Amino acid sequence: MPLFGKTRRSGQQKETTPQPLFEEVTSQEFSLKLSYSAKSSEGVRLKAGPAMVARLASMLDGYVKGLSELVEPVPPEMVSATPFIARMPGSAQWLQYHHKRSPVTRHALVVLESVDAVDMAFETLACGLLDGETDTLGYPDYNAIVGGVASHWDEITGDMIVRAVVGWGGKGARGDTDRNAAHLLAGLFNNIRADTNAVGTVPAERPVAAAGPGGAVCAHCGFDSGHERVFYCLKCGMRLQRG
Ligand SMILES: [Zn+2]
Repeated sequence: MPLFGKTRRSGQQKETTPQPLFEEVTSQEFSLKLSYSAKSSEGVRLKAGPAMVARLASMLDGYVKGLSELVEPVPPEMVSATPFIARMPGSAQWLQYHHKRSPVTRHALVVLESVDAVDMAFETLACGLLDGETDTLGYPDYNAIVGGVASHWDEITGDMIVRAVVGWGGKGARGDTDRNAAHLLAGLFNNIRADTNAVGTVPAERPVAAAGPGGAVCAHCGFDSGHERVFYCLKCGMRLQRG
């Protein structure tokens, strides 16, 4: 005897008059608009010297409110990590990796990575709160400006390339934020240029790793630069070994 598919005998079916279908129903609207923005300066070329990475934090002097934090490039297995929670498992990996950082730093990474203003696969970021306030949990308001300086190593010369980068955004915008961000960007850029090792500026474009293997893989950090004609690792700055 079948358990399912029992049918009623037609004699038991109730006669119903069809209800008219609603073309429109009364509704309540809900939405969330998030908007992130960032600005980057040109790069400044710095001759390599001792403790170069440690000097990045000092380039925020006069502009950072409170502490700054240094975020080094992520390990190779982290390159697909993303701050977007809609993209599991990359977001779980991202949170786990960055969970010990300050709320300001995590916010800065979300803003700057969202709009592609930094590439943590090979860049080092010294960042902090530059303008505005934080809430009681330490997270910046939507009109706060975060950022600092981002650096990578020039693949050909081994120089350090440093640029100023600022970002803001969230649930809303304020009219003067863009202008304040431009002012902060200029101040940070001047700090970078004032470094004793600074030798000139370079266009803002960042190196793009070529698709697929076949480039020069760094023996120190495992980063694949993706090009053949490189001499230094753009992630860690070590001279590449040639086989
Ligand atoms: Zn390396």
